Amino acid sequence: MPVTGKIIKSIAGFYEVYSGGTIYRCRAKGVFRALKQKPLVGDDVEIDITDTVSDPKEGNVARLLPRRNDLIRPNVANVDQALLLFAITNPAPSYNMLDRFLISMDRRGIPAILCFNKQDLAIETQIRELTGVYGNCGCRLLFISTRNPESMEEVRVVLKGKTTVVTGPSGAGKSSLINFLCPGAKMETGELSRKIARGKNTTRHVELLHAGENTFLVDTPGFTSLYLQDVEAEDLKAYYPEFTPYAGHCRFQGCNHLMEPDCAVKKALEEGKISRIRYTSYTEIYAELKERKAVYR
Ligand code: ZN
Repeated sequence: MPVTGKIIKSIAGFYEVYSGGTIYRCRAKGVFRALKQKPLVGDDVEIDITDTVSDPKEGNVARLLPRRNDLIRPNVANVDQALLLFAITNPAPSYNMLDRFLISMDRRGIPAILCFNKQDLAIETQIRELTGVYGNCGCRLLFISTRNPESMEEVRVVLKGKTTVVTGPSGAGKSSLINFLCPGAKMETGELSRKIARGKNTTRHVELLHAGENTFLVDTPGFTSLYLQDVEAEDLKAYYPEFTPYAGHCRFQGCNHLMEPDCAVKKALEEGKISRIRYTSYTEIYAELKERKAVYR
C-alpha cells in the first residue's frame, strides 16, 4: 500500500520523505526520468515503503502528486506563502528592498506576510510609521519579538498547516525565528553545511524544516530574486494595491502616476491617503526598471 508524504530534502540522489511523523529515505524510480519529471523538495508524493527496520526507514517514490507551484530560487514546490522578516529597528528596514521582496512574491502569486521583529527594541512611533506605510499594501502585518514567546505564538498560528518560505535581510533575526519554531533545525543545518563543506558540490541544498503538523518552513539564505528581471516599468503600478482605488480616476488611461497632469494617485498622495514612503519607492524602482531597459535593449 503506497503512503503519501512530502519531500523535505534531496541529497545525492536520495529524497527524504516526511509522512505522518516518520522520515523515509527514498529513491525515485526510473519512471520519472522517462516522464522527464524531477521530484522537487516540497512535492507531495506517494511512496512504496520497502524497509521499516532500517534507520532511516526506506522506500521508493512511486508517484508525484499534482504540483501547485514551484519556485526557482529556492528550487521548491508547493509554497503556500512567504514570510518576509525585517527588523523594526537595529537595523531599520530598507523600504526599497522590502518593496522589491513584496513585488517579487506578488509576481509569483505567493501571498506575503510582512513580519517586523525586535518589537522589544522599538518605540511606539516606529511601529506607527510602519503601520502607516504598509497598512494598505495588501499583505498581512505582524509585529513580533523572537524574545517574546507570546508574539511567537501569533507567528505559529499564521504558519500552521502551510509551507512557508522565510526570507529577509541579515540582522532581521531570521535564525532566531527559525530556531524557535523548528527546534531541530539548528542541528540539521549544521550537519548539512559540514557535508557541503566536505564535498566539492557547491549546489545550495534546499530543505523543508518541520515546524509542527503539516507545517514546514523553507529557510532562504541570500534570497536573490531582487532584480525583478521580468517586470516592465509600466506594469510596476499593479504591484501597489493602495494605488488601485484612485488609478481609474487619472486623466490618462495607462497613467504611470509620475509627471502626468490630473493624476488621481498623486492627488491621493498629497492628501495623505497614500504613504509617501511607498510612493517614493515606487518612483525609484520605476526609474531603475526604465534605466535597465535602456542599457540592455
Ligand atoms: Zn495617475
